[in-house]
Amino acid sequence: MGKGIGPSRNSARNEIFVIAAIVVAAWYCFAQLDVFEYVIEFIHEMETYELDEVVLGILLAGIGGTVYAFRKHRQLKRESAKLEQAEEEVVWMAQHDHLTGLPNRKFLHQLCEHPDFKSCAETGQSHAVLVLDLDGFKSINDLFGHAGGDDLLIQVGDRLNWLMAEQTVLRVGGDEFVIVLRNVDTAQAKSAAREVVKALNEPFQINGNQTEASASVGIAMMPDHAPTLEIARVNADVALYEAKHRSKGSFKMFTKQLGTAMSERSRIEQQLRGAIRDGQLSVHYQPYIDLQTKEIIGFEALARWEQSDGTFIPPSTFIDIAEKSGQILELSELLFRKACKDAYNWPGNRTLSFNLSASQLRDRLMAKRVFRQLEQSGLSPERLELEVTESCFVHDHEAVIATLIDLKNAGVRIALDDFGTGYSSFSRLTKVEFDKIKIDQLFVQECNDSARMKKIVGAIFALSKSLDTTIVAEGIETHEQLQTMQQFGCDIGQGYLFGRPVPAEKALELLAADQIVISDSAG
Ligand code: C2E
Ligand code: CA
Ligand code: CA
Repeated sequence: MGKGIGPSRNSARNEIFVIAAIVVAAWYCFAQLDVFEYVIEFIHEMETYELDEVVLGILLAGIGGTVYAFRKHRQLKRESAKLEQAEEEVVWMAQHDHLTGLPNRKFLHQLCEHPDFKSCAETGQSHAVLVLDLDGFKSINDLFGHAGGDDLLIQVGDRLNWLMAEQTVLRVGGDEFVIVLRNVDTAQAKSAAREVVKALNEPFQINGNQTEASASVGIAMMPDHAPTLEIARVNADVALYEAKHRSKGSFKMFTKQLGTAMSERSRIEQQLRGAIRDGQLSVHYQPYIDLQTKEIIGFEALARWEQSDGTFIPPSTFIDIAEKSGQILELSELLFRKACKDAYNWPGNRTLSFNLSASQLRDRLMAKRVFRQLEQSGLSPERLELEVTESCFVHDHEAVIATLIDLKNAGVRIALDDFGTGYSSFSRLTKVEFDKIKIDQLFVQECNDSARMKKIVGAIFALSKSLDTTIVAEGIETHEQLQTMQQFGCDIGQGYLFGRPVPAEKALELLAADQIVISDSAG
């Protein structure tokens, strides 16, 4: 970038200096050596030989050359200033974001090299890094198009710049901003984060429409949490992840414990790659029971990851990691293949219930993947039920609904899992005709202890009956809970009272016995 400009400009400038120096030196020497008198005398003499015009011409050419050299010098000076300005503009553009005009990622890299942030451990100065990410920016893009999304980013940039006028505000990625606060302590950094969250909670105007947005913020201090700006930024990211996880529109200060938890996550992430590759993941099956006949009507496939020491990493941990690290598709394909193969051997029309996570449903090829696996295993689509949670509908819900409709049209059944624990659920019920609603174990387990909860559960049953949807109660552990669910007219149950998740061979043994033996307790 502008590499050839500097040397050529310098050599032109040097040439001018040399010419000017020679001219000045020559005139000085001529004056010192009385050359001009000799020249005048010479011209007089030449007059006699009529050569004076030639000599005069030579002299005038010299003067002309000098004037030309000066003019050329001025012209080059102007060009050089223009080039310098262009060069500065190129550098500015490379270090700034064209949309918001804020410094960008490249600028941040350079800032990381600044002595203030390289040596704050020695100088004892305390600085902070705030990493900020807009919550639900994708839905704004979906709603207002990319131009609307850009408009929001510009407004966010303006608000941050205005709010943090004395500090460095950068846009380092799509909806990711970084604020570097110099010479602040922990309390000041927290108060700045609070202000930022508050300012971005105020409504925005996009295309003449008022819209809400919010941001989550992660903070890390230098040198308390990190010796350099580079590491502080990574730690602020860890804190941001935690803030987003807890509640949108909040901020979180980095802690050493958070750092340890994050290292543990990345360790599991690495191990998971190996486990998927080496086929260490297995599927266990937990029965679904018809609460009238006590027969097993099917099984839910649940992922299991056994460590070499015989302990299990819970799916709630590794499924989330697989989703965030982009391994969920591979992992799920592997498990689904196994599950379809096992289910094919179950006698009768027992169903296989398989869990799909949010990112899988956003995959536009999802329905095709399912059909291909069904075809390969020979399992008919009518024997498959896919369990999805309300969180699947938060982003890109049009694509998710299209996928679910494709699957339903092919005969696959769709169950809404963990009903009542997620986002506003009722609008979802109008978009997709769920075949089953699975109420979360929280409702089942608290129903007998709280009259209020009992009323809520009663309302869920009434709603599902009016929608003609089957209700499944999950997490039934006691006879008392079973009785309550039966009183509500619940169709299907699942829980430790009927059986825990078991390996494929054990599931086949359960099916060989006609009826499930209900244990006295779930222990
Ligand atoms: P989920 O889909 O809600 O699965 C039911 C969970 O409740 C299972 O936990 C099951 O073992 C547990 N459970 C069933 N009955 C009882 C009971 O009576 N008492 C108690 N305390 N728990 C009971 P698990 O196997 O640990 O799975 C946890 C979550 O991990 C699942 O919740 C599901 O969201 C996810 N998951 C498991 N396997 C997969 C998978 O293959 N793919 C995806 N995307 N998610 C999976
Ligand atoms: Ca489930
Ligand atoms: Ca559930």
